Amino acid sequence: MRCVTPIDLRSDTVTRPDDEMRRAMAAAEVADDVLDHDPTMRALEERVAGLLGVEAALWVPTGSMGNLIALTLHLSRGDRFLASPGAHVLDAELGTAAWLAGGMPHAVTLTPDAVRGLAGGESPYYGLRTTLLCLENTHNSTGGTVTSVDSHVALIAAARDAGLKVHLDGARLWNAAVALDVPPAALAAGVDTVQVCLSKGLGAPVGSVVAGSAAFAAEARRVRKMLGGGVRQGGVLAAAGLVGLDRISSLAADHANARALASGLASLGWDVAAPETNIVLAGVPDIGVALKELERVGVLASPMAGKIRFVTHRDVSSDDVADVVRRIEGVS
Ligand SMILES: *Cc1c(COP(=O)(O)O)cnc(C)c1O
Repeated sequence: MRCVTPIDLRSDTVTRPDDEMRRAMAAAEVADDVLDHDPTMRALEERVAGLLGVEAALWVPTGSMGNLIALTLHLSRGDRFLASPGAHVLDAELGTAAWLAGGMPHAVTLTPDAVRGLAGGESPYYGLRTTLLCLENTHNSTGGTVTSVDSHVALIAAARDAGLKVHLDGARLWNAAVALDVPPAALAAGVDTVQVCLSKGLGAPVGSVVAGSAAFAAEARRVRKMLGGGVRQGGVLAAAGLVGLDRISSLAADHANARALASGLASLGWDVAAPETNIVLAGVPDIGVALKELERVGVLASPMAGKIRFVTHRDVSSDDVADVVRRIEGVS
């Protein structure tokens, strides 16, 4: 079989910074962000805080660190927190929510009634304390599904009734905002803290941002330093994030490519649901066998929640997606 260049749909993190981004990185104004405040990091943090409608924000090297910082500050040892089954904070952060932040995880399909039922109300002194609700929008393991503004508002109201704090894992909040055609701030309304990634669909090589009140950002800076995440001339990285933020609307192209991929796969008889954003989940009889077959024809995908995950991103074009379907047709 002839060699083909693989088309990499394992994740939207595989993008490489393009020339414009690299030029911005090379030209970034920088300073020591631990001693002072790097001017480009400051600009990025202010811009993200504005986009999310919160007071302040802090650049962090990874989304996992952003989530961990928020959970560390929200949870006391032994506090229970609620998150949906398959949530990144439960399944994809190596247990740090428990191990380092001290929280006791509880997975539950998040509805306002479930939140009210599990938290709040009177409890005796020996009762478990539930103190935090963790949201995730879009939701990765269910295939990049979007929580609407109305559902978000209802969950926040339930959390408030139950006296819970709310952290939003918004690694792909930009995708949710584009899919719903609402400003990102509408999907972060009412939360205490929110984490967003710059290194996924927006194409930056490194970086996430965790955001909330000014007091939270100041404490978050201390925890980031504790975790080894204080960087020096980080403006070089923040500059990439700023270029990424100019490209939020272009995520619509990734969503269109995901829809095209899903309908192409469906026409080949694959078991796929219509994607809401840039993630396509496909059910297959044997994941290991399917991934190997795909790789053999030059299509890279990854396992996720008992299915195969294809993620579209800015380094795959609509022609590439058509090519993916042709390559898969050859083996189906
Ligand atoms: C990618 C992702 C993160 C953060 O991942 P890092 O690789 O640590 O940057 C957090 N939550 C969700 C839902 C994600 O998809």
